[in-house]
Amino acid sequence: MNWIIRDARLCLPSGEKEGDAWIKDGRWAAFGRIPERAAGASLSAQGAYLLPGLIDTHVHFRDLGFSQKGTFYTESRAALAGGVTTAFDMPNTMPPTTTITQWEEKMKRAAFRSWTNYAFYFGATEANIEEIKRLSPLQVPGVKVFLASSTGELLVTDEKVVRHLLQESPVRLVFHSEKESLIQQAQKTWTGADWEQIPDLHTRMRPPEACIESTRWLLSEARRTSIPIHILHITTAEEVKLLRERPPYVSAETCPTYLQWSAEDFPQYRNFLKCNPSLKSAADQEALWQGIIEGTLEVIGTDHAPHLWTEKVRPYAEAPSGIPLHGALLPWLWTLGRARGLSLSFWIEKMVYAPVRLWKIQERGGLQEGNWADAVLFQPMGQTCVPPPRSPLHYSRVAWSPLFGMPLEGRVEAVWVNGVLSFYQGRFYAQPAGRAVAFEQ
Ligand SMILES: [Zn+2]
Repeated sequence: MNWIIRDARLCLPSGEKEGDAWIKDGRWAAFGRIPERAAGASLSAQGAYLLPGLIDTHVHFRDLGFSQKGTFYTESRAALAGGVTTAFDMPNTMPPTTTITQWEEKMKRAAFRSWTNYAFYFGATEANIEEIKRLSPLQVPGVKVFLASSTGELLVTDEKVVRHLLQESPVRLVFHSEKESLIQQAQKTWTGADWEQIPDLHTRMRPPEACIESTRWLLSEARRTSIPIHILHITTAEEVKLLRERPPYVSAETCPTYLQWSAEDFPQYRNFLKCNPSLKSAADQEALWQGIIEGTLEVIGTDHAPHLWTEKVRPYAEAPSGIPLHGALLPWLWTLGRARGLSLSFWIEKMVYAPVRLWKIQERGGLQEGNWADAVLFQPMGQTCVPPPRSPLHYSRVAWSPLFGMPLEGRVEAVWVNGVLSFYQGRFYAQPAGRAVAFEQ
């Protein structure tokens, strides 16, 4: 079906402009004043923003193997409702995505089940280099290397293996950057403790030094070899400082979690904010804001990582790390940014233009003629309410969100994926319309 979206505030790559947008055969056909006789269903934006759909380059949709926590279908729906139209999924599933057969299985499963466009990271182990050598950079967004253990069993601590991977991988390595030995050391010190005794327990278990040492090492390896790398979820001021001197082929991400909360919020949330790397101090948070505003940290990824409510209420040592964050992403970012005087264009840069540039995503991104029509109609005057824990109104399968109780400004009115109106005023329409993302070499 073709669409004409009338009277919108168009967020074009050249800047904001009042006008109409025309979707034809799944792609953008024109912007500006679209004549009445143009073919397509008409929808009045009534002055709301029309922006490109967000690209989340860091999600854990939990399919395959953890369907009690999420599937491509449930989690991509939650993402869509928050304005995300493309998601890159991580490999720490069961079984992990460490063979080409497993990777192909995920691609097959996501087709016709994913509401958002999709791509799948490959997982590195200390023994699957031969598989990695056969990966296609046209289809795989990256090889994820866990330098420290987190959810799942993927872990590469041998520096020789990392060096070998850097040399041999045909696609860019993306890193979970924490030094495992420093975490092990901290855990020895604090083992047996719970939140009652130590309010910032998780930050002590996974201390800032683990991140800093690891990122320092990665930067020195990248410099020595001139090989591009991407570092995920940066959390400390010291890393931001190190990254200011980064070579241009190194990129880095932070997540809205670390911009919203700090270790000072643990007494209120405890395990519900337990994620890896851990939340750090308020001063670290301030440095992260500075880092994304100045561009040292180029990308925002959510690290949406659902775990069950029943798992999160267990004692510290038994509760898994990871937080569900999809469902209301754009209103959340908008609200977070407004408090700092940031406009919508800031988030579009971090979650659309930067991913397109860094991953060389084909035919997606900005509102441009010829691109696939992935778009969000966003009403800044609206409000979004996140339901209470275990409410059936949640989109994410685990049915809880740390955003409950926060007043969120703005509302996602409609979302198109490949030109298909998939979400409109709180309801999902048609069939999942996500497609596999293609990358340029
Ligand atoms: Zn993650």
